Amino acid sequence: MDQQKAKQEIQKLSKAIEAHNHRYYALSQPTISDKEYDDLMQKFLKLEKEFPDLVEPHSPSQRIGSKLDVAGNPVAHRVKMYSLDNTYSFEELDQWGGRVAKGLGHANVEFVAELKIDGVSISLTYENGNFVLGATRGDGTMGEDVTHNLKTMRSIPLRLTPAGKEKFPSVLEVRGEAYMGRADFLKLNQERKANGEEIFANPRNATSGSVKLLDARLTARRRLQCFIHSFGLMKSDTHFPTHWDFLQKVKAWGFAVNHENRLCASLNQVKAFCEEWQKKRNTLPYEVDGVVIKVNDLGQQQRLGVTQKSPRWAVAYKFPAYQATTIVNDIVIQVGRTGVLTPIAMLEPVQCAGVTISRSTLHNFDEIRRLGVKKGDRVLIERAGDVIPKIVKVVESQKSAKNGRLKIPTSCPQCGGKVIKVKAEEVAYRCINPGCSKQLERRLIHFASRAAMDIEGLGEAAVGQLIDQGLVKDCADIYALTQEDFLGLELFAEKRADNLLKAIDTSKTRPLSRLLFGLGIPHAGAKAAFVLAQHFRLLENVMKARQEDLTAIPEIGPTIADSVVSFFKNPATKKEILKLKQAGVNSQEATIAVNQGALSGKKFVFTGELTSLTRSQASALVRELGGEIVSSVSKHTDYVVVGQSPGSKHQQALDLGVTILNEQQFQEMIHA
Ligand code: AMP
Ligand code: ZN
Repeated sequence: MDQQKAKQEIQKLSKAIEAHNHRYYALSQPTISDKEYDDLMQKFLKLEKEFPDLVEPHSPSQRIGSKLDVAGNPVAHRVKMYSLDNTYSFEELDQWGGRVAKGLGHANVEFVAELKIDGVSISLTYENGNFVLGATRGDGTMGEDVTHNLKTMRSIPLRLTPAGKEKFPSVLEVRGEAYMGRADFLKLNQERKANGEEIFANPRNATSGSVKLLDARLTARRRLQCFIHSFGLMKSDTHFPTHWDFLQKVKAWGFAVNHENRLCASLNQVKAFCEEWQKKRNTLPYEVDGVVIKVNDLGQQQRLGVTQKSPRWAVAYKFPAYQATTIVNDIVIQVGRTGVLTPIAMLEPVQCAGVTISRSTLHNFDEIRRLGVKKGDRVLIERAGDVIPKIVKVVESQKSAKNGRLKIPTSCPQCGGKVIKVKAEEVAYRCINPGCSKQLERRLIHFASRAAMDIEGLGEAAVGQLIDQGLVKDCADIYALTQEDFLGLELFAEKRADNLLKAIDTSKTRPLSRLLFGLGIPHAGAKAAFVLAQHFRLLENVMKARQEDLTAIPEIGPTIADSVVSFFKNPATKKEILKLKQAGVNSQEATIAVNQGALSGKKFVFTGELTSLTRSQASALVRELGGEIVSSVSKHTDYVVVGQSPGSKHQQALDLGVTILNEQQFQEMIHA
């Protein structure tokens, strides 16, 4: 291709890619599949590589990200980034309304009600339509330059889209909220957990951490999004009479503007909006913590002005937090399948956000120390969105001297075995008795679980009895069980015993990925197991793999690699695997040529939370059967799997007439 032709092609592709980004991220209306998008991008990147001097400063390839060596420069905001006054009741909202009315001589006032997105405030500056600077809020006067990270966010246009012959403002600074969707947040935390990394407490922390990363390639993978809600500065001939007009204009220029924003003729309409979203907030694919109410008319805004801290023409109405207080009845210690001891607070049952909460994990002994919590204390608990309930702080300490702080046990509360901190840098303490019955119980339950060997009927009750009777000492012993063994257990009649035996027998044919996951290698989740199985194909090969063979696989980090090597070095593991093989358990990964799996060529989209398995386990299962996971719904999507609190993809599926599966239907399809 000659230079001239390449230039035209690059421009054409660049335009097309940015238009797809806009449709996907700003409008949530993609018109092509992820695969088609990726192909387009690959083609474009190849061309740019071939003709490096044709790379433009606002090319979509900028979104892949690059690494900075030092933190971004400080940025002085040309117009201060104010925070908002908060109200917590309609009474307080009315008081604000009263002040506004008075300030405007009781003129007619319109309001715009917007969801208050729980993310991180950012500022975006455009010069003649080109994105030149992205900054954090900082203290409102000085922020930090995070342009490199914000460029990776595809809902932020690198160049504005003109309408007709319109001239862009010479300088435009808009403000918005960067956030992480619930699904992306859950996925990120699962990945971090699988890699042995610390998990983020909530999407806001995850967003804030991501916006400040030095390596924008990491930010790019975190799929941050952004809604524009305000402006800072505009040098232009165009003027908007109202905030609503501003929102429509920036939307036309290519920014993502929240779809739920509503123009309200009165404060009563504002309240209706607040009530509506307080109820529906969990159905949104992102977290919101309230509503922001703004006076619509910009002239009126000016008349009202600002205080030191916040504008008088806007206010936040905060939703009640999902909090409650209750008593810690006890702190018990749970032993997991790798021997890790986890303290759990047993709580006086309490209602919080519509569910009864009676326990909350304290994660580890450091957390107990940090909170200073002990038996008998009254504590504040919080449940944020989908996040599991946690103890925020002690609100009233139990004074009685006999209830001291929980001591870190030196022996296992289940088996009496020795407890040590295996690695100095880890917070976890473990029971290191290889014969610990609690660890064995957890290991067996995990082995038999749906996403692993899927042995229906082998749950907690059966496993506990089998261990108590000394019938199983490792996972392989399951395959030696007989009908008599089961008939000797409580609540086992012939039919149930036979069904379970059948299920055990069927499980011998599971692919290697399931077996690896079932063996419970520390730090290796379903995804890592799948990746290992795909790469090595045979169990022997995984067992032989050296640290460097493992880290050479892109998805496998050093923590997992270490863990895999030491897991297979263990003589007990070797013995268990030998027994599994002798019992006839499959140890190969089936080669799934495209066209062979039961779901080959089928495109799946997930929305909402699944309860019986994690999103990544579900995805692995689909891929195992030859299916494909795509992230947006289009008319080419075959199935949309809808979990709890689904996002907008549910509606899109309904609109497009795509087949919808609930969790049970999905399970039935997978296990057919
Ligand atoms: P606060 O941090 O509680 O003072 O609340 C002010 C912050 O709310 C702003 O700095 C924004 O980052 C954030 N915010 C979220 N959604 C909106 C919205 N629709 N309009 C204005 N601010 C918003
Ligand atoms: Zn133990």
